[in-house]
Amino acid sequence: MSENVLAFGPCVVHGGVFGFDPDLVPTVLIDPETNRPPDVGPDSLPCEPAPGSAERAVGRPLCPACARALNRELQGRGELPRFDETDTAAPRRAGQG
Ligand SMILES: [Zn+2]
Repeated sequence: MSENVLAFGPCVVHGGVFGFDPDLVPTVLIDPETNRPPDVGPDSLPCEPAPGSAERAVGRPLCPACARALNRELQGRGELPRFDETDTAAPRRAGQG
């Protein structure tokens, strides 16, 4: 019966605003200078992080749909899913009755 604390913000991938629990939402680290994760280059391919990039990077919320899409992409490359696909804005416990 505890209430979720909800926040609203743009998804780091598709840019649409969605509701989430800031304590639980999966995040992607983004370097504010490049608007990309520190280890991703301008061509969207993995790269060596630029000096200071990882230190500048801040976690941005990822919506469940994009988490799912990213996980599929990872799995398509033979990698393990990395993002929690739970909708953190959804009630975690259904009311009784
Ligand atoms: Zn999204």
